[in-house]
Amino acid sequence: MPRQKKTSKKLIRKPKAAKLPKEELILQPPRGMRDILPADQVYWQQVRRVSEKAATDFGYQRIDIPLLEFTNIFSRSIGQETDIVEKEMYSFTTKGGEKVSLRPEFTAGIARAYIQHGMHVSPKPVKLYYIGPCYRYDRPQEGRFREFFQFGCEALGEQDPVIDAQIIQMGWRIIYQLGIKNVQVNLNSIGCPSCRKSYRNLLVHYFESKKQKLCIDCKRRLEKNPLRILDCKEDKCVQVKAGAPQSIDHLCEECREHFKELLEYLEELEIPFELDSSLVRGIDYYTKTVFEFVSVSAGREEMKKKALGGGGRYDGLVEMLGGENTPAVGFSLGLDRLTAEMKKAGARTYKEPKPRVFLAQLGTFAKRKSLKMFEALERSGIKVAESFGRGSLKSQLKVADRLGVEITLIVGQKEAIDKTVIVKDMTSGNQEIIDAGRVVDEVKRRLKK
Ligand code: AMP
Repeated sequence: MPRQKKTSKKLIRKPKAAKLPKEELILQPPRGMRDILPADQVYWQQVRRVSEKAATDFGYQRIDIPLLEFTNIFSRSIGQETDIVEKEMYSFTTKGGEKVSLRPEFTAGIARAYIQHGMHVSPKPVKLYYIGPCYRYDRPQEGRFREFFQFGCEALGEQDPVIDAQIIQMGWRIIYQLGIKNVQVNLNSIGCPSCRKSYRNLLVHYFESKKQKLCIDCKRRLEKNPLRILDCKEDKCVQVKAGAPQSIDHLCEECREHFKELLEYLEELEIPFELDSSLVRGIDYYTKTVFEFVSVSAGREEMKKKALGGGGRYDGLVEMLGGENTPAVGFSLGLDRLTAEMKKAGARTYKEPKPRVFLAQLGTFAKRKSLKMFEALERSGIKVAESFGRGSLKSQLKVADRLGVEITLIVGQKEAIDKTVIVKDMTSGNQEIIDAGRVVDEVKRRLKK
């Protein structure tokens, strides 16, 4: 009988998953963004404290708005033809198909919130302040980041120039209190939509005659947004604009009176200011007053590029976004630039209050009791230092010495069992054993002395 051939079982191999090359890990944030490390926080904390104190002293209330808004909130208010909207926004479409952008500034979002929450029914002016990051895809350089931080105030519902003066006074006061001297306010009025129309025509007429001398961007701006030519930093445009007509010479009666009153208030406040006819601030929603806080120690053009802050009136913005006619004015300060100036000026920084008490422990049981005791002291407002990770008493006392505390509390195995604690006076070296339940009162009593 012929032998039957065995059918060989074929091995079915699964196809190997294609190995994708591992993407390289870049251990740094995207260009133009950075970490602000603990060592620098003393400057940032000082800026935050001084600004928030000024805001609340002047009657402003904090508002927080999302980092993201629908893109058209920005494009409609800041303006389609502006650098911010044309080139600098971080915009994307969400999985749900919504077109959103990271905020390049706060004012537009605040105007949106003002309308949405019906703040027009509140007593006027509605005074709001904010603090947080903004994003602009600009070319990073010294003092210019893609992620930067702003603090700012907005007063909505008031048209009296006294509020413009007060807004400038606040910004000025904050900068001054941070120890940054040599600062001046550059000021201009760009009028209201009605007087701006005839001024715009004059400008177009002037720049048309010099068109050949303008940069490519400004040739384009001439058609769409001629005021922005005044803001251009290109050398050749700077020369051309020097002879351009000035907006303050072409204000309507109401705008001229508004500006005159503002100047009188600033003189009264003794805030140094300089009229700057080329200041237009590059955002479409501004009307009448525009200003910038600049460091006088920087060169003229440099000064404009590196303003510490700025702001102005935006009487049409709320209406532009669908709300009621609402005159408004505000300012924002760049925290990245303020902290950099503070460093240059050797300004005073925020000092964390030092601990006056050290809590030392010995052994696991004592450590457990110490954790609880730490909480009791901290809750009653006593700043306590510890070094719970260290085992030896000697090394813990060394830390206490280095910190210069006034009292060291020691909980050993025996004290933990007896529910007591050793209180050591670090100046005299005297020690006393007290009931653990009395520790908070005893420490308070001694610190008061
Ligand atoms: P703006 O409304 O664009 O004039 O911005 C107000 C302030 O924010 C400026 O005066 C700067 O201090 C700060 N600022 C604006 N853009 C940047 C940026 N890209 N990097 C750092 N700070 C900025």
